[in-house]
Amino acid sequence: MPEQTVLRPPGQPGAWRDVTEDADDANDRDDEFRGALNRALGRPTEGGDVRTVWRALGQHGVLRGLYRDTDSGGATADPVRLGALLHAMDERGDNGATLTVLVQAASALPLLSTGTTETCRALRERALDGRATVALAATDSAAPGSELTALGTEVRWDERTLHLNGGKRWVSGAGSADHLMVLARHRPGRHFTSFTWVLVPVTAPGVRIEPADTGGLLASAALGHVHLDDVRLDVDHLVGRPGRAMASFAQHMATERLAGAQWAVALLRRALTATHRHLTARPAGEGTLWHNAAIRQDFAACLVRTEQLRALVEAAVRTSNGRPDMNGTALLKAAVGQTADDVLSRCAQLQGADGMTAGGAHHVRAEAAVLGLGGGATELMLAHVADAADILLDTSRPVP
Ligand SMILES: Cc1cc2nc3c(=O)[nH]c(=O)nc-3n(C[C@H](O)[C@H](O)[C@H](O)COP(=O)(O)OP(=O)(O)OC[C@H]3O[C@@H](n4cnc5c(N)ncnc54)[C@H](O)[C@@H]3O)c2cc1C
Repeated sequence: MPEQTVLRPPGQPGAWRDVTEDADDANDRDDEFRGALNRALGRPTEGGDVRTVWRALGQHGVLRGLYRDTDSGGATADPVRLGALLHAMDERGDNGATLTVLVQAASALPLLSTGTTETCRALRERALDGRATVALAATDSAAPGSELTALGTEVRWDERTLHLNGGKRWVSGAGSADHLMVLARHRPGRHFTSFTWVLVPVTAPGVRIEPADTGGLLASAALGHVHLDDVRLDVDHLVGRPGRAMASFAQHMATERLAGAQWAVALLRRALTATHRHLTARPAGEGTLWHNAAIRQDFAACLVRTEQLRALVEAAVRTSNGRPDMNGTALLKAAVGQTADDVLSRCAQLQGADGMTAGGAHHVRAEAAVLGLGGGATELMLAHVADAADILLDTSRPVP
């Protein structure tokens, strides 16, 4: 089926091009996307805050280029381009900004796109152009993040008005977003059809954002806790059909988990490169630390594990056909949880005291703990893998 390219500099409708999906065209379009990415994340955003980065991504057409189906109202991130975005973000070395862009691009904006009201459509267009930012507020104040269906935030509505009460914790970008995508329940009980997404402007009366104290970790992510006290909104702030929130969340969570794994690979390779540089420069005996056989083996083991993770990510991208599979991405996220902390701890240890400098290897390791938490703790992913063991072991599935 022909797919329309969405690479369009804002304000230049004439620059749209219809492109059919054959291999050469797809490669050209991926090159075009990477060019836009390089321009967006080039000099002007260096050191810029996350809103500046998001604006640059929008202005250079990266956000529109990231998604398939934007013309038909959906927004499914292309897995190859998502990987390119996260690698480019990671190169900037600002983990807080990468986390915020990841959640927004992989989950918040696609979830917003399930909304068909004029309010949702208008915000989606502004977000795609980089003129608005949206944070994802799912983890609830009234329940552990690992038990989402026990959440306490409630939404009720009459003919015209929504009433929202509750609270959300650990929201990436809460301090920099214009809007929040809030997961709320519209009826009691844990059944997955009891939940609904609500679009909440941060300026609405009754919304209060409390900065999360991370002791300087992931500072650019502007993490915050959200208080919602009798927030009243027009009913067109309901996003998607009531009762569909958990189903759409699960679908887009698969993309976020893939994105997390893509970021993890970039982050681990960056840490390994820095560690290699340190070891080859650090004088020891007749040579450097790199000449020590035990250290080389240790380093090599970390590189092997990172490349195993990369192979898993590439297999997931190849087999996803644009829609990452929930079981496969739970397995992928479990693998990230098992690998990232070990490799980053080892890298930090191998850098000796120098790993303790501000923003050094130990700081990066602590920030990367989010890879084993955000979007679902590693233990939950392992439980999902066990539940899906029959499917994952199905021998009729082609080996990628
Ligand atoms: C930096 C950061 C950014 C985040 N960004 C966002 C965001 O943008 N939006 C959002 O909605 N949320 C966000 N979160 C929240 C995140 O999704 C939750 O932290 C996560 O789901 C875990 O929930 P919890 O912290 O309440 O841990 P809990 O559910 O309290 O669990 C604590 C620990 O207990 C163990 N555990 C829990 N359940 C089980 C089980 N069934 N089996 C075995 N062990 C178990 C695990 O070790 C787990 O880490 C973010 C969190 C962090 C740290």
